[in-house]
Amino acid sequence: EQSERDSLFIVSDFANKHFQHNLFNHEEGSIGQSYLKQRGMSAATIKKFELGYSVEAWSDLTDAALREGYKQHYLEATGLTIVKEDKRYDRFRARVMFPIHNVSGRVVGFGARTLKSNDKKSPKYLNSPESEIYHKSNVLYGLFQAKQAMRMQDMCFLVEGYLDVISLHQGGIENVVSSSGTSLTEGQIKLIARYTHNITVLYDGDAAGIKASLRGIDLILEQGLNVQVVTFPEGEDPDSYIQKVGDTAFKAYVKQNAQDFISYKSSLFAEEAKGNPVKKAEAIREIVTSISKIPDSIKRSVFFQSTSLIFDIDEQVLISEYNKMHLQER
Ligand code: ATP
Ligand code: MN
Ligand code: MN
Ligand code: MN
Repeated sequence: EQSERDSLFIVSDFANKHFQHNLFNHEEGSIGQSYLKQRGMSAATIKKFELGYSVEAWSDLTDAALREGYKQHYLEATGLTIVKEDKRYDRFRARVMFPIHNVSGRVVGFGARTLKSNDKKSPKYLNSPESEIYHKSNVLYGLFQAKQAMRMQDMCFLVEGYLDVISLHQGGIENVVSSSGTSLTEGQIKLIARYTHNITVLYDGDAAGIKASLRGIDLILEQGLNVQVVTFPEGEDPDSYIQKVGDTAFKAYVKQNAQDFISYKSSLFAEEAKGNPVKKAEAIREIVTSISKIPDSIKRSVFFQSTSLIFDIDEQVLISEYNKMHLQER
């Protein structure tokens, strides 16, 4: 007897194959193909990530699936079909499709990018809604393709977007995942921790990326994992940067610019802190907050030492600040 979950997996797999088929065989597919080419994606990469295309029609996928005997109920439950006032239409239309796989490689949902570069009416990315097979907080985009490399390299790069994952792969960096569509969760970090305890955060060089990195760092530390951060020039993300400078220069850049969270945070707040004791105190408190998340007391002590050196402040002062925070939390 087939369970509800099985049926959702099966219809998602059908949709994935349909979108891939569209990209290469539908008359509109060439639009998707040229978009991907313009984004620097090779044929091998498109195949590896099973990229596809949803055509510009109200119910291309829905009609095809119903014709093949898939039940409307499952199309709705995966969010592929939207039913409104007795009308059925496809959620994803005229978009490049990124299937999202679970750890064992089954399709659980999709990310979908519009081809338009500047359309304020429709969002740049649309994602599948939560379903019985797609719990966003427990899925990482690219994990299925990355997990072996994560174990081998004993490290995982964490990026923001679908194309960041894919471009790095194409450049030979396979240990990379993204929390695409949600902000990083505890469950996602636990998934990474099955393969490695070392995470290098490669977020976008913009205000949103910095904000997300600060939140991510504390979550990662809280889970007892090690975290490094690489920042990119303003306006660049890992995808745009590797496409711009090439694989070799990108790898060198990452190696040279990887910082631990203390130097990352102190350089982030350094500008403001210069000659301003109040700001300096704020920066130190920021860092102590991060250190306080680390469950391991020996690691904590090492980080207190290095913070004490960087800011030229007595270690005991940091520790008593930590103790105060800790007491407040309880
Ligand atoms: P691209 O390079 O294709 O323009 P990106 O991945 O660099 O896209 P960002 O704006 O940096 O896009 O956003 C990072 C990630 O956040 C995206 O990959 C996507 O998963 C998600 N995202 C961005 N915009 C939206 C949106 N409007 N709705 C839902 N998710 C979004
Ligand atoms: Mn961004
Ligand atoms: Mn980006
Ligand atoms: Mn981008």
